[in-house]
Amino acid sequence: MLLIDGKTVSNKIKLELEEIIKKDNLTPGLGIILIGDREDSKVYVNMKKKACSKIGIRNIDVKLDVDVREDSLIKEVIRMNENDNIHGILIQLPLPKHINTQNVLSKVSIKKDVDGFHSCSMGNLALNTDSKYFAPCTPEGCMELLRRYKINVEGKNVVVIGKSNIVGMPLSLMLMNKDATVTVCHIKTKNLKMHTKNADIIFCACGVPNLINKEYLKQDVVIIDIGINKIPINEQHDCKDKKYKIVGDVDFEDVKEIVSAITPVPGGVGPMTIATLLKHTVEACIEANKEN
Ligand code: NAD
Repeated sequence: MLLIDGKTVSNKIKLELEEIIKKDNLTPGLGIILIGDREDSKVYVNMKKKACSKIGIRNIDVKLDVDVREDSLIKEVIRMNENDNIHGILIQLPLPKHINTQNVLSKVSIKKDVDGFHSCSMGNLALNTDSKYFAPCTPEGCMELLRRYKINVEGKNVVVIGKSNIVGMPLSLMLMNKDATVTVCHIKTKNLKMHTKNADIIFCACGVPNLINKEYLKQDVVIIDIGINKIPINEQHDCKDKKYKIVGDVDFEDVKEIVSAITPVPGGVGPMTIATLLKHTVEACIEANKEN
């Protein structure tokens, strides 16, 4: 069984980016907007900020209250669009329920859309046009892992579990663009096992801990586990010092004998998402410099 080591690949990418930044004397900047007090969002933002600082990308971050009005949030986005020191803009999702997420995301300048969530970025991905627009980081990170491990998707039966706008849907487009035969499964899919049993490659992005076990798989399948799920280690739910661990959507221990390759959780797709965000920010900076 081949362990697809996203941590090592992402470290390599970060080193490559650090070298480019130094060699070309770049001053890339990432604008980060965090709304509200969600613990998970704060953790993700801190991880991204730390990764930026480590390789020489400046962070310009704005924190807004959970009840911020949509027009005030859009004003912040426009301010960042107009700031020449900011080359990429990240709006940490999910946004509070009273805000129209797609409306806000599509106010990000397309050139600074390093998360790839702008409707034009997504449209270009769907049309498979050769553009400089960015694609969403998590699916691109998955595709980069396959590329670096020389796992070809062309003509393969590929199942994507989950169809969210940030992972499953853009991932299925990227796979189609690479001539895979793609089946997208989701919460309403009847008989998930029937689909997964026929798959050469499975991408799991549903957020259900250990949903997939060996009963769902054929021998030698490749698995890319995107899920990040926090589950309690001890069963005593009222215990004060409750400890958690992170698991994926796939029961790693159960499937490891049957798969030909698999990403671990943690240490698989997660670090690739951050490395891709950094890469996009550096690329956006290089493009901006060409224009000036
Ligand atoms: P989401 O909740 O927006 O979407 C989940 C999708 O899974 C939906 O399409 C839903 O229909 C489907 N689904 C849910 N339960 C299912 C089931 N039992 N069977 C089949 N399909 C089912 O979630 P998301 O934002 O796409 O994230 C999915 C997972 O990926 C989460 O665990 C999230 O934490 C993780 N994630 C990881 C990264 C990373 O960098 N590794 C990035 C983003 C999200």
